[in-house]
Amino acid sequence: MSHKRVYTFGNGQAEGRADMKNLLGGKGANLAEMNLIGIPVPPGFTITTEVCSEYYTLGKEKVIELLKTEVEKAIARIEGLMSAKFGDVANPLLVSVRSGARASMPGMMDTILNLGLNDDVVEGLAKKTGNQRFAWDSYRRFIQMYGDVVMGVKHTGKDEIDPFEAIIEEIKAAKGVALDNELDVDDLKKMVARFKEAVKRQTGSDFPNSSYEQLWGAICAVFDSWMNERAILYRKMEGIPAEWGTAVTVQAMVFGNMGDTSATGVCFSRDAGNGEDLFNGEYLINAQGEDVVAGIRTPQQITKIGSQRWAQLAGIPEDVRRQNYPSMEEAMPEIYKELDAIQTKLEDHYRDMQDMEFTVQEGKLWFLQTRNGKRTGAAMVKIAMDLLRQGVIDEKTVLSRIDPNKLDELLHPVFDKKALAKTKVLAKGLPASPGAATGQIVFLAEDAAGWYNDGKKVVLVRIETSPEDLAGMAVAEGILTARGGMTSHAAVVARGMGKCCVSGAGELKIDYKKKTLQVGSTTLHEGDFISLNGTTGEVYEGKVATSAAELSGDFSDLMKLADKYTKLQVRTNADTPHDAEVARAFGAVGIGLCRTEHMFFEGDKIKAMREMILSETQEGRKKALAKILPYQLADFKGIFRAMHDLPVTVRLLDPPLHEFVPHDLKGQEEMANAMGVSVEYIHERVEALSEQNPMLGHRGCRLGNTYPEITEMQTRAILGAALELKKEGIHVFPEIMVPLIGILYEFLEQEKVIRETAEQLFKEMNDRIDYSVGTMIEVPRAALTADRIASSAEFFSFGTNDLTQMTFGYSRDDIASFLPIYLEKKILKVDPFQVLDQKGVGQLIQMATEKGRAIRPNLKCGICGEHGGEPSSVKFCHRVGLNYVSCSPFRVPIARIAAAQAAIEE
Ligand code: PEP
Ligand code: MG
Repeated sequence: MSHKRVYTFGNGQAEGRADMKNLLGGKGANLAEMNLIGIPVPPGFTITTEVCSEYYTLGKEKVIELLKTEVEKAIARIEGLMSAKFGDVANPLLVSVRSGARASMPGMMDTILNLGLNDDVVEGLAKKTGNQRFAWDSYRRFIQMYGDVVMGVKHTGKDEIDPFEAIIEEIKAAKGVALDNELDVDDLKKMVARFKEAVKRQTGSDFPNSSYEQLWGAICAVFDSWMNERAILYRKMEGIPAEWGTAVTVQAMVFGNMGDTSATGVCFSRDAGNGEDLFNGEYLINAQGEDVVAGIRTPQQITKIGSQRWAQLAGIPEDVRRQNYPSMEEAMPEIYKELDAIQTKLEDHYRDMQDMEFTVQEGKLWFLQTRNGKRTGAAMVKIAMDLLRQGVIDEKTVLSRIDPNKLDELLHPVFDKKALAKTKVLAKGLPASPGAATGQIVFLAEDAAGWYNDGKKVVLVRIETSPEDLAGMAVAEGILTARGGMTSHAAVVARGMGKCCVSGAGELKIDYKKKTLQVGSTTLHEGDFISLNGTTGEVYEGKVATSAAELSGDFSDLMKLADKYTKLQVRTNADTPHDAEVARAFGAVGIGLCRTEHMFFEGDKIKAMREMILSETQEGRKKALAKILPYQLADFKGIFRAMHDLPVTVRLLDPPLHEFVPHDLKGQEEMANAMGVSVEYIHERVEALSEQNPMLGHRGCRLGNTYPEITEMQTRAILGAALELKKEGIHVFPEIMVPLIGILYEFLEQEKVIRETAEQLFKEMNDRIDYSVGTMIEVPRAALTADRIASSAEFFSFGTNDLTQMTFGYSRDDIASFLPIYLEKKILKVDPFQVLDQKGVGQLIQMATEKGRAIRPNLKCGICGEHGGEPSSVKFCHRVGLNYVSCSPFRVPIARIAAAQAAIEE
């Protein structure tokens, strides 16, 4: 640990730099960097993330003691640069206190503005600025924030508004005004007094007067906020380790609320929603930063073009727009020019889209923050490809900037145009985060979670969202708010989640108590269906059908780029021609796993299958299998046709037989009739087939070894289908895979049946075809004896679902009963069924691959468990030299990018 705990910045100098994010957090490091490149930033200092760890090990008192001298010195430095004094009545310095972790966590932790005010200082501030209203408004905001964040003054029920807001509403109502800015100095003074009473009432403590007491309270509250519920949840979602901690930045306040030449805003160097190379953002005249983000007042656009587009969407005529909602470009042209120049400079400097916060204090522009902007999946792809074309970044940088999981957003359907044309537009809001969402209305985040758990698709409808709504937002199909702009909490968080969001739909009247949503004469209730188009901002009544996503253009260029660097191939797990086609369109170069059992559940197939299972003699089974054969043949033809010219690995029957038998009386009666036996007989057979532990029971190759006629029939179907297609001129490369091998002889027995059946079939059809016979490695013993198995098996496919199950001894089906506790206690960092356990299961994979190739040097090895589409697992597969990963169709592009990244990272 370094001993320096505080890093100062200001006046073109800084002790930190952009590459010190780990120590100073993203915000602190970038504030330092902005100083160094000549951007106007109010002076301040950053307390390191290491201190956050000290805070949690040594405790509050000790940390304050350790920081005291350095913080006081740093404050003195700000005082010097700002020519003001912290806590001074005549010439007060006010500061902001903000959190800032390595990775940005928007709105998750706490911020306090205007710190340093008390009953005396507020008078001094009023005198110094000659602006009583500003001083008292700043003071009431400070008490509000500090009371909430540091002293814990909260609302009492989920559908109640917070006590400070309640006081504001009461004062406005008593005066008969609607807007905050219609309140005068006396009203604000009254508000301050009532706020303090509320603090005392709820907490039993007086609001602190001493500026240093306030400062230490705020610093500690920021450290505390690292462990608040929403920050923990956000970290879990984004995979951010708790050990990182947050830094705390203390900075001289600049004020956007000092009158009409002051303003505050948030801007992006490119469009975070669709990636368009267009500077954009929102600002509010005479306001403080929180007003923009909190969505309390709907802000105006920064650029003229943005403002015109916004007006068009809202149906506002151009003259009205110019008069009532002018852009910053029109209202403050000089400041706008400076802002535009700085945003360009920052994007050039960081070579990526920037998300920036600024304040204008009486005509002077200050930057408060810059960071690489969060963006949707579509924007991620477009921005990276545009920057490549513009010569700003190279191909490898493009690939390394892609978050593979975010591609998912691009692959899902959008609203079907025809269906949309027939649908009634209920309201219009801002296109805050693109995509299409249809679901049932819920108004409270906790209801969203509950309904979701009941298997329902919901749209979360709120007046505005706050970080407390995070869990509900995470499970909703989409989010709709009545208030707030493109940078409101709802919009920023939804974009981060890749979730469809329409914000600021002002026509909506939402009543949380009655659970209704009213637009004009239409009233919708909780549970009614609603649809959102996050790309246009339109809200529709009812359900709307969707259609497939657009995969050409930048997306396909990006994929071509990935292929240029990738060594690992990406196949798909597909059991139907449709899935095979989808995966092929996504770039799969073969099927790595076709699970044949899924084919048996359709139509009459299940009856023949049941007959086979329920028969007690080989003769009876063969009779039933003869009925199944034509179905299987047709199924394989469909899949092979869809995958022409590419390899297809077909796995022989794998699951325990009792999964197929009828457990209900009706089904048993049906089978009794079909087979001409009694219901009692069927019932007894079903009982006899049931197992204590089916996952470790009569399944996998144990089925084929006990009932070789199943393997025989499947071999006939696979190779017969391939031969029939051969006649049509379609090339098929079948790979027959034996599941759940643990012992070489299990494989040898099956291989014998397959090869003998094949020869028989080739003779009958008077034709032959190349095929290979390999095995899944999903039992630890198979991995341990992989050299022996490779003496016969022509390929290995690691079934990491079962391999994880048997390596850990955790049942795939029952892990949910203890996994949450294991994660909470950090016994496990992640769910090993989702993210490959590289140390244990991975070691088996690596060892088996090496042992296998020692015997058979060009043994083809792949993975077909769920991990085949998970980026960190895909990278592992590349490192241990597998030939391919196989994953579900929608994860194919994700795996392709991860594979390219693995090759680049080599
Ligand atoms: C596996 O076990 O990883 C596998 C792919 O097979 P299944 O999930 O069908 O058991
Ligand atoms: Mg398996």
